[in-house]
Amino acid sequence: MNPSTTADPTADATPKISFREVVKTYPMKAGTFTALDTVSLDIAEREFVTVVGPSGCGKSTLLGMAAGLVEPTAGETLLDGRPVRGPGPERGVIFQQYALFPWLTVRRNVEFGLRLASISAEERRRRAQRAIDLVGLGDFADALPKTLSGGMKQRCAIARAYAVDPQVLLMDEPFGALDALTRVQMQDQLLATWSKERRTVLFITHDVDEAVYLASRVIVMASRPGRVHRTIDVDLPYPRTEAIRLSPEFARIRNDVWHSVYHQTPAASDA
Ligand code: ADP
Repeated sequence: MNPSTTADPTADATPKISFREVVKTYPMKAGTFTALDTVSLDIAEREFVTVVGPSGCGKSTLLGMAAGLVEPTAGETLLDGRPVRGPGPERGVIFQQYALFPWLTVRRNVEFGLRLASISAEERRRRAQRAIDLVGLGDFADALPKTLSGGMKQRCAIARAYAVDPQVLLMDEPFGALDALTRVQMQDQLLATWSKERRTVLFITHDVDEAVYLASRVIVMASRPGRVHRTIDVDLPYPRTEAIRLSPEFARIRNDVWHSVYHQTPAASDA
C-alpha cells in the first residue's frame, strides 16, 4: 500500500474500530456523572486518528473502551465488527507513564509482553530485537531503564507494544511527559515506524500541533458532557516533514483545531 494514501473512512469496509453510540456514566452521591455522551466514531484500518480536547472531556475513557479496559454504560465498541469484551493482544496500549520494570534491561522489558503469549524463547528474542531496532534503540538493548533518557524509556515502552505485533496501537498522551524537542523527535520516529508497518492508531493528546502533525483526521472533543465536537480532516501528505510542519497549510489546520478546542462554540460543520 502506498503510505501517502490516506485510508478512506467512508470506504465500504468494516471499520477497524467502531464506537457505536457509546455512553459512560458514573454513579455520584446525587445522580450520575456523564463522562461520555453518545459518541459514534469509525476508524478505518491503517488510519492514524488523533483525539484532542480539554481535560476531562472523556478522551481516556474513549481509548479505554477501545482497549477493553472501560465498559460502556450503553452502546458498544467494535473491533473488526465484533464487540470488544476485554483487552486483547491485537491491541497494544501505551500510556504516558513508561511502566518499565527497572530491574530488567530494555531487551527483557520488551520480551516481557511476549512471555504471556506461548512463543519460543528464540522467537521472543527475534521479535524483541526487531521492535527494538524499529524504535531506534538497537545500541541500548542491554541497558537498564535508569540509564535511559525519558524519550528512550518511552521508545522502550513503544517497542514492548510493537513486539506483540498488535494490529491497533492505542496511545494515551504517550509523549506528554517529554520536553518539546524530544517530543518532536518522537513524533517523527512514530510516523516513520507507522509508515513501515501501517497499524491503526488511535492517539490521544492535548497538544494541538501534535494532533495535526500526526493524524489524517483529528477528533475534537468537548466536555460536560464528553462528546465529539468536530472532526477535522488533515489533508496533508505523508511523510510529514519539517517543511509541512512549518507550512501555511499546516498553520491553517492547526488554527482551526485550536479554535475548536479553546473556543468551543458550535461550528458550522458540527454534526
Ligand atoms: P480526559 O482523558 O479527556 O482528561 P477522562 O476520560 O480521563 O478525560 O475522564 C472523563 C471524566 O470522567 C472526567 O471528568 C473524570 O473525572 C471522570 N471519571 C473518569 N473515571 C471516573 C471514575 N472511575 N469515577 C468517576 N468519574 C470518573
